[in-house]
Amino acid sequence: MFAHNKRLQYSVHVDACNPGLANLMLEQFGGPDGELAAAMRYFTQALGEDDPGRKDMLLDIATEELSHLEVIGTVVAMLNKGAKGELAEGANAAAEMYRSLHGAGNDSHLTQILYGGGPALTNSGGVPWSAAYIDSRGDPTCDLRSNIAAESRAKMIYERLINVIDDPGVKDALGFLMTREIAHQQSFEKALYAIQPNFPPGKLPGKPEFADVYVNTSQGEGDMRGPWNSDDNFRYVSKAEEFLAMDGGDGRPDVQLTDHESKVLRELQQRTRSNPQGNPKTGAELGIDGHAQM
Ligand code: MN
Ligand code: MN
Repeated sequence: MFAHNKRLQYSVHVDACNPGLANLMLEQFGGPDGELAAAMRYFTQALGEDDPGRKDMLLDIATEELSHLEVIGTVVAMLNKGAKGELAEGANAAAEMYRSLHGAGNDSHLTQILYGGGPALTNSGGVPWSAAYIDSRGDPTCDLRSNIAAESRAKMIYERLINVIDDPGVKDALGFLMTREIAHQQSFEKALYAIQPNFPPGKLPGKPEFADVYVNTSQGEGDMRGPWNSDDNFRYVSKAEEFLAMDGGDGRPDVQLTDHESKVLRELQQRTRSNPQGNPKTGAELGIDGHAQM
């Protein structure tokens, strides 16, 4: 079960209300790399997990992400406090309130007009949160790799937000949230390497003749060699005849059809065949002719 503790995971001090900044913060509240996405990603993975160690870790991190959601949502609410009261009470002249919604060049009209200054589950552009942000596949090595990437994305978004914030209290809270994503990335990496073997993902091995081939399909000036395609690690294939087709066949598709399927398909081809000899007039050309007659 969940129980709520009224203390935040990190104390939030906001120096001055700033609705434009609040709007930017929504990126980590209801955005694709935000805290709700992280919490739901790890919580649902934990429910389906059978390994006791990973299940415990996923529940710990999922619950911490919900606590981060609370911190960032509180930051949003506090940055909006001034504008919220003024708008609700109609306390200022219209022009002044209009200006306050667009403070510091950050448009916050959606947050203010539609959501009344409360933290909305949208990204900073107003796009509603979506479960499609979560890409779990139910395989631990797949999902841990995706979690590692998700944590590094979250770290980068916090870093960008920190770079545009001058409020010391908000900067400090975001520094904490950013740092926790670094710690989570470490845990997910360790958990991935605690599974041996973990590459390739799943149980089936790849076809050995294709598994270590690097195909140089974009050829010309700019071709470059490195560990990602070196002869130490890969068989580097550049000749077209070696990859057209890679199975050594003629590269043509075929399919077995029943007599009935073949007959119907021939009828379709006959009915929709194109005439390469004709030169049909187009609507555009007819329009040109009409214009010329005027
Ligand atoms: Mn987080
Ligand atoms: Mn995290």
